[in-house]
Amino acid sequence: MTHPDQSIDQPTLLEIFANGELSGHSRHYEKYAGDMAGVYLDSADWERQVAHGGADRLVYSVNEQKYQEGPGALTIGTSTVHPGIYGDEYAVTRGHLHAVSDRAELYYCLSGNGVMLLDTVDGQTNAIELAPGKAVNVPGQWVHRSVNVGTEPFVTLFCYAADAGQDYGLIAAAGGMKTMIVRDGDGWTTIPNPRHIGYARSSAA
Ligand code: ZN
Repeated sequence: MTHPDQSIDQPTLLEIFANGELSGHSRHYEKYAGDMAGVYLDSADWERQVAHGGADRLVYSVNEQKYQEGPGALTIGTSTVHPGIYGDEYAVTRGHLHAVSDRAELYYCLSGNGVMLLDTVDGQTNAIELAPGKAVNVPGQWVHRSVNVGTEPFVTLFCYAADAGQDYGLIAAAGGMKTMIVRDGDGWTTIPNPRHIGYARSSAA
């Protein structure tokens, strides 16, 4: 008789919904309007909206399941960015580079309309539009942020190496990402961020 290897984790079933619900999530966090100080170029408009709508207005939320640890494990989750516009700039997540910077990530759009905004620390920039059924494979070494360019919540499924971590300070230290996603008629376009001063090279691996 053979004995099962007790060190092998069991597969888990997840239910993932277009509204961002994720059954079995092990972590949920929320960001509020008041958490986004310094993110938007038009800080006066951001302040006005916080004063009127409240610093506790939900702007994005994340559900995630981290089931295993270590370099071979995956973190799986959903990100929901609520619609908004500050000056001409569409609502964004804080964005990050993975602390282990070679770690890649999949983002698959479940609902809404958005853009994955991407920079490298050496000055490349890219913006990839997402709609339900479209996904972006974000390679390692790319700073990334979700942007909601629609009027409904922008919901993505993400999946990345569980040991990747996040460096959130890099973007703030650079004066924001290199490019901004702004309103252009009924759509969106990219413009250079005048506050961006370039990224410091991450000291992480
Ligand atoms: Zn990431």
